[in-house]
Amino acid sequence: MRIAKVLSTAAALLFALQLNAQYVSGVNTPDSSAIYNTDTSDVSVLLANTISAEDMREHLTILASDEFGGRETGHPGNDMAAEYISGHLNSLGVPKIMDGDYYQDVAFTYTTWEANTVTINGNDYKGAKDFIAFPDKTGNASFQAKEVLYLGYGIDDPEYSDYKKVKVRDKVILINKGEPMKKDSSYWLTGTSEPSSWTGDIDRKLKAAKKHGVRMVLIIEDGLREMVGKNRRKLLGPTVTLTNGLKDNTELANHLYISTTMAKDIIGDKDKKVIKSRKYITKKGKNCDAKLKPTFAVNQLRKSTILLGRNILGFFEGTDLKDEIVVVSAHYDHIGKKGDVIYNGADDNGSGTTTVLEIAEALAISKNMGQSPRRSVLCLLVTGEEKGLLGSYYYSENPVFDVDKTVADVNIDMVGRVDKKYEDNPNYIYVIGSDRLSTDLHKINENANNTYAGLTLDYKYNDEKDPNRYYFRSDHYNFARLGIPSIFFFNGVHEDYHQPGDTVDKINFDKMQNVGRLIFHTIWDLANRNDRIVVDGKVKAGR
Ligand SMILES: [Zn+2]
Repeated sequence: MRIAKVLSTAAALLFALQLNAQYVSGVNTPDSSAIYNTDTSDVSVLLANTISAEDMREHLTILASDEFGGRETGHPGNDMAAEYISGHLNSLGVPKIMDGDYYQDVAFTYTTWEANTVTINGNDYKGAKDFIAFPDKTGNASFQAKEVLYLGYGIDDPEYSDYKKVKVRDKVILINKGEPMKKDSSYWLTGTSEPSSWTGDIDRKLKAAKKHGVRMVLIIEDGLREMVGKNRRKLLGPTVTLTNGLKDNTELANHLYISTTMAKDIIGDKDKKVIKSRKYITKKGKNCDAKLKPTFAVNQLRKSTILLGRNILGFFEGTDLKDEIVVVSAHYDHIGKKGDVIYNGADDNGSGTTTVLEIAEALAISKNMGQSPRRSVLCLLVTGEEKGLLGSYYYSENPVFDVDKTVADVNIDMVGRVDKKYEDNPNYIYVIGSDRLSTDLHKINENANNTYAGLTLDYKYNDEKDPNRYYFRSDHYNFARLGIPSIFFFNGVHEDYHQPGDTVDKINFDKMQNVGRLIFHTIWDLANRNDRIVVDGKVKAGR
């Protein structure tokens, strides 16, 4: 599971307002008197039974060991994990479909600031402390300026434009977040108490600045310290992107988020001028800039290195419907080390990786029994998830099997622990996304649970209004965004989430076995049913 992208409160609010709850969000608790199918003449039961807590313990003890160093993408521990996984596939006799191997190579660009400083009126300011610059969002900049233009909110809209009759080309501009508000607390742009998208979408302002030829945008960030805290890991470590995989940022103007202290230094004795222009904007709903005269110097230089990662593909060919593919995915990377402290990532996502290894084994057994499923199943272990779902993004942009023939993605990310809510009932799992694109997918999983597993299925995080937005935070989303029905199994967060304490001794293997078996039954149904599941939901973009 990936850490949340930090949205401003206003953006999160805006996001929540745009949506109506319509997906299943309750809890499905099994009937205590229900009887489950354990008859091993049912091949699904026979195969699911090969998924065992013992095997899982064996795999996970290795994957989450200190030797694997937290499996961070681009680090040796990640390669060791890849080799362990492919070794397992090889031992199962899984064919090497990727040029005699199991790997899809993924190139990552690691970018850091070699230099990242700003000087205002002779005072030095440091990146990741006094200001924030994300190296994947803003480029190299090294220049001095004797003028900074206060440009209100940096909005360029037919209804209201801070650029109207102002020369901004090659200038440094200083802007506020948000948008102009009237005295009665309604917004000038919308005429209501709801802000326009200019408030939540900072990129829109940066695109406008780029279009007008602005040299650099300084965004006053009242909550800079909080923003630094939330992005600490990202700001201190390198920023990782796919090499040539993601769109670059040439459409955004160079920009910094600066503290109010820095803003005050820039404004200097022109504070009355700025207050005046702000008052004018509020009163008239028209733009009003102010020329400021600090000495401003910036020195930013990025350094990039390219590192290789690998997605791992274990392909199980189907029979009469083999052209159709069911994907079962899990990310095998984690967040590595901080200094000497290892983040083992037993639950996140050693547990999902292990579950896929066990599902692969069950599928290998089905083949040996001459009982292969009708559709093909692709066990896809992806890398770069913790860096922003990059491995799965890469796969979805460079699919080895036709997207149109990909029936569903079953994604497993954190299934070995028990959260606070279920302290007394470990046999539960949060299910996310199942009904968003396909009612069939949801029903199939419910049916598998009612027939075989009897777990408590909690849809709390499937609620569109859930602020955690987990639907957008694991690898299945890269399939869902293409319209492929996706179901995500997740045990919820706990105190060891992304902490050094996420270790194998805290894993509940009986629970993991039960969840793994349910997932297998769902996959088995998806792969064997007569009709491919129907897509009857719409793709909605995440942010
Ligand atoms: Zn994670």
